[in-house]
Amino acid sequence: MSLLVVGSVAFDAVETPFGKRDKMLGGSASHFSISASFFTDVRVVGVVGGDFSREEEEVFIRHGVDTSDLERIPEGKTFLWRGRYDYDLNTAHTLDTQLNVFADFKPKLSEAARRSRLVFLGNIQPDLQREVREQVRGAELVALDTMNLWIEVARESLLEAIKSVDVVIINDAEARQLTAEPNLIRAAREILTWGPKALIVKRGEYGAALITSSTYFAIPAYPLESVFDPTGAGDTFAGGFMGYLASQEKLDEAAMRRAMIFGSVMASFNVEEFGTERVQRLTHEEINERFRAFKQMTHFEEIPFERAVSAAAKNKDEG
Ligand code: AMP
Repeated sequence: MSLLVVGSVAFDAVETPFGKRDKMLGGSASHFSISASFFTDVRVVGVVGGDFSREEEEVFIRHGVDTSDLERIPEGKTFLWRGRYDYDLNTAHTLDTQLNVFADFKPKLSEAARRSRLVFLGNIQPDLQREVREQVRGAELVALDTMNLWIEVARESLLEAIKSVDVVIINDAEARQLTAEPNLIRAAREILTWGPKALIVKRGEYGAALITSSTYFAIPAYPLESVFDPTGAGDTFAGGFMGYLASQEKLDEAAMRRAMIFGSVMASFNVEEFGTERVQRLTHEEINERFRAFKQMTHFEEIPFERAVSAAAKNKDEG
């Protein structure tokens, strides 16, 4: 198995200016694993309650996601998140978070899970992220995501988790909140001093940037005319990013740059419909087509620049 994810497997109730859903499959690990499944084999670590039906589990199975490390508590209830977006779709307003079965979750990874080459510590209580990190000591690359709630209520544990990973994938507001530094570049530099080798800052409709101690690489978001529901865009980005990396032998900077594009491609599909609906129906051809569109969108020629000689100066020279 090449890619492991721990994170929330949830029911989401979401309202956007364009519609609402009272109960749909959500959670960081769900969005991540469905997205990553287009690139590699994925195994999900998490917990669900007795209300998690066969129909929901089928979504994972249809995408070849290994759910043998997904624990079931028949007498418990699945994690629930209720959120709302206003016209600024970059900002999610959390109305309710019910940890339910995650409150007492103690992840115990199977032997196969412990041997994963790449690991994503998806958005969930940082103590759980650390417990999983402890069990995958041999992983080649470990990445982490988080959110404002954990920065506020579990800061110390989150800092410990961040110290133990290679890549941090967060949004711009979280980077600022985490460091109390309004300038994003300075915030990034500070996070890199804590241990991670790379930081990815997601900036919603403005794209994403990959920052290391020596490089800066930024890409725009795909120019969509209608964004329906941004829920899970960050996890879907991370799924494309990590999924593509897992399919590569060398995890060098060139691979990371291509992975950034695949992350953005996947996120751009995710926001076109509610929850995981659009990504569930994706084809490889659609992914490749949008990858090519990104290449075209950001391509430019390098030319040796010289100041053009003005016509007057030219005439003078010739005369
Ligand atoms: P994002 O990719 O940042 O839009 O994440 C959206 C997903 O995060 C939703 O599907 C929620 O179920 C999940 N989520 C929201 N709050 C939390 C939380 N406190 N812990 C774990 N997952 C959460």
